[in-house]
Amino acid sequence: QGVRDGLAGELRRMDGASYGRYKALLGSWSMPGFTLEVIRGQSDPYAPPARVALRVPAEEAGFPADLWESPVRRRALASYLARRAAEAADHRALRVDAGGQEVLERSSCLVDARDGSVTLRLGVDLPGHGRRIDGHAAEHVLCGLLPKVAERALRYAALDADDVRAFADTVEDSAVLRAALPGLGLVAFVADGAVLPRRSGVDDRPATGDGVVPFASPEELRVSVDLPHAGTVTGMGVREGVTLIVGGGFHGKSTLLRALETGVWDHVPGDGRERVAARPDTVKIRSEDGRRVERVDVHAFVDHLPSGADTTDFCTDNASGSTSQAASLCEAVEAGARALLIDEDTAATNLMIRDARMQALVAKEREPLTPFVDLVRSLHRDHGVSTVLVMGGSGDYMEVADQVVMMDAYRPSDVTERARRLAAVPTGRTAEADAFPGVAHRRPDPGSLDTSVRGRSRIRARGDDGLTFGEHDIDLRAVEQIADARQVVGIGLALELMVRRGYVDGKRTLAEALDLLDSDLEDGAHRLLAVRDEDFALPRRHEVAAALNRLRGLRVLG
Ligand code: ADP
Ligand code: MG
Repeated sequence: QGVRDGLAGELRRMDGASYGRYKALLGSWSMPGFTLEVIRGQSDPYAPPARVALRVPAEEAGFPADLWESPVRRRALASYLARRAAEAADHRALRVDAGGQEVLERSSCLVDARDGSVTLRLGVDLPGHGRRIDGHAAEHVLCGLLPKVAERALRYAALDADDVRAFADTVEDSAVLRAALPGLGLVAFVADGAVLPRRSGVDDRPATGDGVVPFASPEELRVSVDLPHAGTVTGMGVREGVTLIVGGGFHGKSTLLRALETGVWDHVPGDGRERVAARPDTVKIRSEDGRRVERVDVHAFVDHLPSGADTTDFCTDNASGSTSQAASLCEAVEAGARALLIDEDTAATNLMIRDARMQALVAKEREPLTPFVDLVRSLHRDHGVSTVLVMGGSGDYMEVADQVVMMDAYRPSDVTERARRLAAVPTGRTAEADAFPGVAHRRPDPGSLDTSVRGRSRIRARGDDGLTFGEHDIDLRAVEQIADARQVVGIGLALELMVRRGYVDGKRTLAEALDLLDSDLEDGAHRLLAVRDEDFALPRRHEVAAALNRLRGLRVLG
């Protein structure tokens, strides 16, 4: 069946018919300046909205090639268009997933790499009077509002060209900055002038007002980077190795670390964090008591448990604060993380520090935990994994830090030399380990990735911070780099793709299965759209690995 004409007439004829007749809309309709495809109907007025796509051909969309030829600018353009479309679709029946402060590849808007044509996908609540079709309201929504969206938001001629280009330039600069970090020996960069604090815990827009202190790099840590659009930009370089962020409470330590966490994503112009970037393989680690752990070698951190449990092959359905953090750290490195972020506010103290007095009181033989302070150097020296750590409460890390940044009233200064002199005075503390032994690569059991519930495959987002995976749940509340709720949907689809394609086959390690997934994700949203057409944002392999590791049914072979 090809593209049909006469949608308006069809809707008028449907008026008053039973709601199920809306099924007849499935397929493609010719509209002024675009094709409307009804991908999925709506079975009754209370069911999830129908899914439609507006396909605007290249000659109507009219975007110059410089806005869509590179993958990064294409993603930026699509994100910009989704935002304009959400504004133009100002009606409760239309649901456009525009995203928040981060500029992620999303299924809601995609620009074609071949010709710059645009596809907007959205949900439409099909109007009814009770269980009868309201044909006139449907005509207003589909034939009145949607053409307005296409006309106002999806055509270059209707948009502010400078604004579009500024958006694409900002995102491209951010991506170039992130890609430049390894070559500069950096794990992260925070530009001078960046605004890091947010409006509130539930409002991710930048804080405003006189009290906001823009970021200003200390001279000793200042680095300049050449960006294609912004030119030469200066800021603080966070070097590879071990970086300690110290300072009094409320002086902005966690705010700085959170900016680094979200530095794996690009941000919209005006966000304040446009030029804050962290390496793409940066992973936030925290404690998460109660989580499940499946056969992780945590013996570097936890050994000689009173229960006699083998910690080279550690399992639990209910991890403690310290073992959960040890497991999450080993899992992150296993999945390929090369920079770790840890905040004392969300870390297990007993895994982080054990000072001289406690060493004297409690003999090592009676303490299963080896604190991170004795492993963090080796993690970098022997395994190439850097750490950025917020620690205002203990000075023991001064001995192991390559650089120490002090936050003072939101202003960073370099106190590495002072810290080094203080560290030279012995505390009586003795190191409890020489080296981090590395992580064990696990082979997940494909049989444990059964997604079926009563014969049907089921992986679904459960609100903002969890997934249902077959008969099991995945709790993602402690996976803090997830950018928004739609990315949880993306994680679910990525897991489904991995299962369907047999990436986890009983022979591959988890890291090898993630390598295969990575080539799908590199290709953009298309591969996940083929799994299911719904609103989602692309995750990284690290978010997908975090989800798999939290799957209560996961089993590992060997
Ligand atoms: P710490 O971790 O050092 O205790 P936080 O990072 O939690 O401190 O910051 C404490 C408060 O200060 C937060 O409410 C935060 O929003 C605010 N804040 C952080 N950085 C800035 C800044 N640059 N300008 C203004 N307020 C800030
Ligand atoms: Mg804090």
